[in-house]
Amino acid sequence: MRIDVLTIFPRLFETVFSWGVISRAIEREIIFFRAIDIRDFTEDRHRTTDDYPFGGGSGLVMKAEPILKAVESLSDEGTKPYVIYASPQGKAFDNNKAQELSRLESIAFICGRYEGIDERVMNVVDEELSVGDFVLSGGEVPAMLMIEAISRFVPGVVGDMESVINDSFFSELLDHPHYTRPRELNGMKVPDELLSGNHEMIEIYRRIESLKRTMERRPDVFLKHDFDLTDKKALLALFKELKRDAE
Ligand code: SAM
Repeated sequence: MRIDVLTIFPRLFETVFSWGVISRAIEREIIFFRAIDIRDFTEDRHRTTDDYPFGGGSGLVMKAEPILKAVESLSDEGTKPYVIYASPQGKAFDNNKAQELSRLESIAFICGRYEGIDERVMNVVDEELSVGDFVLSGGEVPAMLMIEAISRFVPGVVGDMESVINDSFFSELLDHPHYTRPRELNGMKVPDELLSGNHEMIEIYRRIESLKRTMERRPDVFLKHDFDLTDKKALLALFKELKRDAE
């Protein structure tokens, strides 16, 4: 998969993508990543990428021409990328969107700065995506965040695909709690079920914990969940547990 980011701060990506899962995916050529400097597509001496807004008002606006030229240069290379503008006004980015985008051959992110980008760039944008209902100073951190989430779904990026499948939201539930050694720490014990060696008991225990967490923390997600047989068994066990506690 090819991922390009159009930014005026390409070096921001050097550190973040030099570590962990992403850096290994780049090294192993599963992901082809480039941070492209929008300034390379300017034509003036000062490499200007912003200007004052028509109509007045505060702040600067990113100029359309360098961004349009940068996008055009990507199409000239062969495959036309799916162009995403990181924007607080976009549709909410989530796990389903990450999985959907991971199936594409080539995607490109445009990172805005200042008041945003000249509206005419929207003619080459396929989708605007927001990482939350808050405003950041630039699209670089949102792009990094989306790239991390998308690449986890690209086969081969995460060594064990099962861990992706078990993550929060994949099954529309939050992930269960995790423990590792030691078995006891300052009087805090690992739940007996996880030490039982009984796989069915472990599966039910984990599902109960996922259901409980989702109910408590994200009732909106819980209400949309499609309950399977393991969920039903887990809910039954949970009701029994609650009844026992009440008695
Ligand atoms: N004036 C814009 C508005 O109110 O919608 C905000 C511009 S913001 C200061 C500068 C850039 O940061 C945006 O062009 C966008 O690329 C990025 N950005 C800020 N918040 C974001 C968010 N929640 N999701 C995605 N991108 C965001």
